[in-house]
Amino acid sequence: MSDTTTPGPIPLVDLRAQYRDIQAELDVAIRDVLERGDFILGSAVERFEAAYADFIGVRHCVGVASGTDALALALRAMDIGPGDKVLVPANTFIATALAVTMCGATPVLADVEPSTLTLDVEAARRALPGRLSAIIPVHLYGQPADMAAVLELAKEKGVAVLEDAAQAHGAVHADGRCGALGLASAFSFYPGKNLGAYGDGGAVCTNDAGVAERLRLLRNWGSTVKYLHPIQGFNSRLDTIQAAVLATKLPRLERWNEQRRAIVADYRDALEPLNAVVDCVTEAPWTVRHAYHLFVIRLRTHDRDAVLSGLHRRGIGAGVHYPIPIHLQGAYADMGKGPGSFPVAEDAARRVLSLPLFPEMTAQDVGRVVDALGQVIAELQ
Ligand SMILES: *Cc1c(COP(=O)(O)O)cnc(C)c1O
Repeated sequence: MSDTTTPGPIPLVDLRAQYRDIQAELDVAIRDVLERGDFILGSAVERFEAAYADFIGVRHCVGVASGTDALALALRAMDIGPGDKVLVPANTFIATALAVTMCGATPVLADVEPSTLTLDVEAARRALPGRLSAIIPVHLYGQPADMAAVLELAKEKGVAVLEDAAQAHGAVHADGRCGALGLASAFSFYPGKNLGAYGDGGAVCTNDAGVAERLRLLRNWGSTVKYLHPIQGFNSRLDTIQAAVLATKLPRLERWNEQRRAIVADYRDALEPLNAVVDCVTEAPWTVRHAYHLFVIRLRTHDRDAVLSGLHRRGIGAGVHYPIPIHLQGAYADMGKGPGSFPVAEDAARRVLSLPLFPEMTAQDVGRVVDALGQVIAELQ
């Protein structure tokens, strides 16, 4: 059989390990949909929506085609459109900003806070335009954003908050669960997320019955009754097979997140001797449970890209989240925000490194990643 003395590569995420664990149950859930044949908004969608609303602790969950659509359709359901300005952090996945653009509104960026890399609400307050329509805090890497400060700013400005919870399934803030803190929240079920489908998927959670009702229309061509279209909408439903997959996985999410936190605790211990060169992104004081979608470190002194390629050469699938902040992307060149506009986000883009993290990782894997990191750094001295 295989040579046990040469261990294989360690990817950034390994989705196959999880499938092997729950294969029998997943196969039954998927076959069930195939046999019922209710492929569009079938019974598994409603079942998952009810279970997820219950898990997040909100009254309504509406399944849509992706996390990006969850953000964009939620903004529309909140009446955001052309002429509106929406506050977004400069360090996030580009979909947060694209969702604003998709509904005709304009993203307004603010820098992030250096210790947590989530929205810096004080910096945002200073940079705000005269008129603002909504705020999208991002629970980046699985860590709750500073929601007390965000909600205070929103109240001051009289605007609504849409949480980008695409990386934060199961994260808990001192004031409640992520996804239940704003007017609405958007989740992604992209395969690599903490709760991932086997394709694209997303959902909006809200306690607001009006927002939920508009979302049910918007995702289905503006219709909840066949051939009756009171408004214009889209084709953006959560796929029934994906809903069946998600309903099967959801009862395991808390345990998987617990495993992620245990792996990160191992990482933090193992990284201590490298303290002079490596700095871990901090857990904020308001964080009760970090979902650790990603475990992100920053290199204090070494060239990040050289470290990254050194790790790749050793079979360690480290990543970078994210290498280019929103304002420096070609897609947003028209913002006219050049280098130096958001220095904390730009500094993070140069120095962050995400180490492999998935629930099935072993303590031995963690040791191998940190050993490899130590070797790469020693070689670069
Ligand atoms: C993944 C992600 C999205 C987009 O979700 P998709 O399902 O891929 O469309 C949006 N925001 C953040 C922060 C994400 O990580």
